[in-house]
Amino acid sequence: MGSAIIETPVPSPFTLRVIPRDQHTISRKDISPNALRVLYRLRDAGFEAYLVGGAVRDLLVGGRPKDFDVATNATPEEVKQLFRNCRLIGRRFRLAHVVFGREIIEVATFRANSDDGSGDRELDNGRLVRDNVYGTIEDDAVRRDFTCNALYYAIEDFSVRDYVGGFDDVQGRVMKLIGDPEQRYHEDPVRMLRAVRLAAKLGFDIDPASAKPLPKLAGLLAEAAPARLFEEVLKLFLSGHGVASFEGLERHGLLAALFPESAAALRANRSGALRRIVLQGLGNTDARVAAEEPVSPAFLFALLLWPAFCRELMRLQAQGMQGDEAQRRAADRVTLHQLSTVALPRRFSLPMQEIWLLQSRFTSRQRKRVVRTLSHPRFRAAFDFLLLRQSASSEHDEDVAFWREQQHQPGYEPVPAAQDFAAGEDGADGAPLRRRRQRRRRSGVSKPGE
Ligand code: ATP
Ligand code: MG
Repeated sequence: MGSAIIETPVPSPFTLRVIPRDQHTISRKDISPNALRVLYRLRDAGFEAYLVGGAVRDLLVGGRPKDFDVATNATPEEVKQLFRNCRLIGRRFRLAHVVFGREIIEVATFRANSDDGSGDRELDNGRLVRDNVYGTIEDDAVRRDFTCNALYYAIEDFSVRDYVGGFDDVQGRVMKLIGDPEQRYHEDPVRMLRAVRLAAKLGFDIDPASAKPLPKLAGLLAEAAPARLFEEVLKLFLSGHGVASFEGLERHGLLAALFPESAAALRANRSGALRRIVLQGLGNTDARVAAEEPVSPAFLFALLLWPAFCRELMRLQAQGMQGDEAQRRAADRVTLHQLSTVALPRRFSLPMQEIWLLQSRFTSRQRKRVVRTLSHPRFRAAFDFLLLRQSASSEHDEDVAFWREQQHQPGYEPVPAAQDFAAGEDGADGAPLRRRRQRRRRSGVSKPGE
């Protein structure tokens, strides 16, 4: 189900401000040569061509953009005629992708109306929820979410064009929604997460008027497509600023909207040990991203849902359920409940559960069980998880020492990298590097949109 996005025209009391080349810091040497090629070719063919969105923002704060988007007055068909390596994508609103090996430069024609950036333009009960039409550059600017995301770098004279005050907001390091904040969050609730995520990534503050409605409107996230929220969660926590994202979500009352059961468990945990585990794990993940080491969505979700799992397990045990049965039941329930907000694909939820279930095996010293645990494909990840738990409580010191020792015993063979999801299955951005054939999904456990 696509989230119902009701388009409302944004009033435009905006005037153009041109920031000439000698008054900003964007240099062509920091722009991808392929993006420059696209910009120049469009210009040479007589079209307007701009670098736009996150790339301009990131360059202005001295960051390294992860992708370069181009906006133009050429139609997608006109773009296609200019580039042999171009494909048109999207059904209703067409976008041009100009492909250079692994790099794709997205070229979008100026358009009016807002866009949630999800790329899906769906019919909701037969009603068209997004009806994009081509527009002027000013229309294109005001339909964007934050002022800092609505700046245009013109290849024609290397100036920055600002219709919404974004240039000053970047200098002031503030995230400010364009137009009326409540209305813009209603149009697309995911913008609430984008506010927190981009503020965390850039070290910006959220403007008070844009921050104020967040706790009150957090519940709107329940209407967002779970598959889109999954993508957004990966960006929040696997892009190198997971700790800041977590703290931002907490501060603005959004954590419970994404992870209701974990948020409740964290609140109930007086000692704060669960929160320490989560923050420690997110901090480690940030460090891995900084070191360009692979990170895994399964481990991330094991961490984020660990509080919920612990709480559910205690509840079942209090009811008299014991041992493996309680463990499995708790893992299944937490996974199932979580799926109603964030669509966690099975290829991640299964290893996540294995990480949890292996934790109880770490207390066993029985030789046969020890051998089995050591050879489990998820042993390494589960052991890393045990280390996190140890960082919050010394009660695991002995187990950590024992299992560390075991790994140094002759005969211990680390699980081959190909089987360890951290090294194989998913790249740093959470996208699968190696596509596995999907097994048939059991109904209710997985959702479309993986
Ligand atoms: P990053 O790529 O660093 O996560 P970004 O701002 O580039 O951040 P994208 O999702 O790549 O984010 O979107 C590109 C641009 O599209 C944004 O800068 C913004 O101008 C516009 N945009 C994205 N999502 C939305 C949205 N939900 N509502 C309005 N405009 C959006
Ligand atoms: Mg981007």
